[in-house]
Amino acid sequence: MNYPVYNFGAGPAMLPRVVLEQVQAELLDWHGRGISVMEMSHRGADYMQIIAEAEQDLRDLLQVPAHYKVLFLQGGATLQFAMVPLNLLRGHARASYVQTGIWSAKAIAEAKRFATVEVAASNADRQARVVPLQSEWRVSADTAYVHIAGNETIGGLEFDFVPELGDIPLVSDASSHILSKPVDVSRFGLIYAGAQKNIGPAGLTLAIIRDDLIGHAPAGTATMLDYAVHAKEDSMHNTPPTFAIYVAGLVFKWLQQLGGLDAMAEINARKAALLYAGIDNSGGFYTNAIEHRNRSRMNVPFTLHDAALDKVFLKEADAQGLLQLKGHRLLGGMRASIYNAMPEAGVLALVDFMRDFARRQG
Ligand code: PMP
Repeated sequence: MNYPVYNFGAGPAMLPRVVLEQVQAELLDWHGRGISVMEMSHRGADYMQIIAEAEQDLRDLLQVPAHYKVLFLQGGATLQFAMVPLNLLRGHARASYVQTGIWSAKAIAEAKRFATVEVAASNADRQARVVPLQSEWRVSADTAYVHIAGNETIGGLEFDFVPELGDIPLVSDASSHILSKPVDVSRFGLIYAGAQKNIGPAGLTLAIIRDDLIGHAPAGTATMLDYAVHAKEDSMHNTPPTFAIYVAGLVFKWLQQLGGLDAMAEINARKAALLYAGIDNSGGFYTNAIEHRNRSRMNVPFTLHDAALDKVFLKEADAQGLLQLKGHRLLGGMRASIYNAMPEAGVLALVDFMRDFARRQG
């Protein structure tokens, strides 16, 4: 493969090249110890330093308040679909979910195994093209929490506001937009994310949880599914995904060097604006039907005016080093995921290719 290659896959997604180069440089001999991070005891002094630094750097980036725990877990965001109701019902029967697309629907389906689910709002009647305004939501006072998917990775739909729920904890699946811009963590009871989009390699799941929401899993809950166990043992109840945490830690340092999440937010806004402009200014050759205020800055689905061109579009894009643009199998069309690690040059290259393709095929 010739470089540069730009990988628009939705996840596992592209990682910053400099991070991969550092991983490569340190792979066989981490800091002169003669072994790889993969081969270290997770309880040894070296690894304890790696995980502590990763946690501190993440706390600094997101300005996580002291009364929140940062947990490094496994099982993907999908396991959080179960752990959230298992831990946060706190004696309530009911939990509320806002349905904005395929991932929030999956979270709802799983929660139904453990709780009475109230769908507080849904955009299913609007082709999942808009996040329902909070004024439309119906949240019962006795609900345990309200769950949202902050960014719908498949639909390309992102919240443009943080719901205000008073004392009811807000839970967000932030898998596909965490670390893409600053966020006021104190507005949430729990934020969770699978790592493989904007954090690091697959196998690591992050949870940031307010202290008072820890310790409510009912008796009989499996040990590994209880946030309290992971909190008490600093994510070391069992062997954590050591290598993934190490790589995530390097990604956090990379973000700090770029100027933190304020700088990242600006870059991401520029990238998204460029790509949506390319779509909107194509005279109908490309379309993205999401309401503008909810267009995801991370996942940009689009269709070609003639689906018969999809195959040749993908083939030519691939030949130019623009990889994994095929849309999700449930939606078809294209999807360009432009997470933090995607440089502006990658989006420029994609937009140039799209313009050229439309000119030749239009
Ligand atoms: N939630 C969202 C928003 C996602 O994008 C994904 C993965 N694409 C998941 C949950 C499931 O994550 P995992 O594969 O880590 O379980």
